[in-house]
Amino acid sequence: MDKQIVNGFSSNELQELFHKAHLAKHRAHCPYSQFRVGAALLTTTGKIYTGCNVENAAYPLSTCAERTAVVKAVSDGEKSFKKIAITSDVEIGFTGPCGSCRQTLAEFGLDMDIYLISPNNEAKMYTLRDLLPIAFTPQDLQKPRASHDIIL
Ligand SMILES: [Zn+2]
Repeated sequence: MDKQIVNGFSSNELQELFHKAHLAKHRAHCPYSQFRVGAALLTTTGKIYTGCNVENAAYPLSTCAERTAVVKAVSDGEKSFKKIAITSDVEIGFTGPCGSCRQTLAEFGLDMDIYLISPNNEAKMYTLRDLLPIAFTPQDLQKPRASHDIIL
């Protein structure tokens, strides 16, 4: 599962994606957790949508950076995603997407690359398929279902 820990994700596309994730982190509204997160989502059409976490005094209404980026993209007509970069202020290790964000991303395909980025721009790559095994996806709703129940 642990694909790479590299400083050398050097393509211009990735460096721009990482840069935008770092910038998005600075817009985080996190007065309760003080835990800033930024995300940058690359579509297959080459657009980048950013997101930050947006907390709320009614805590359950808070939204993660990744879901903010997805909502912005989808509301702009984009539903096909290639990569997402996610960063926080954590100095040791990386910050992965929460379960809700993994499921939200899975709605749009499991082959997306997920880059976790440290504050000093080290990165680790996974696929969404790695991070959400046995995912529940829109295809599950198309599967035949039993017409009977066994009640014990
Ligand atoms: Zn999340």
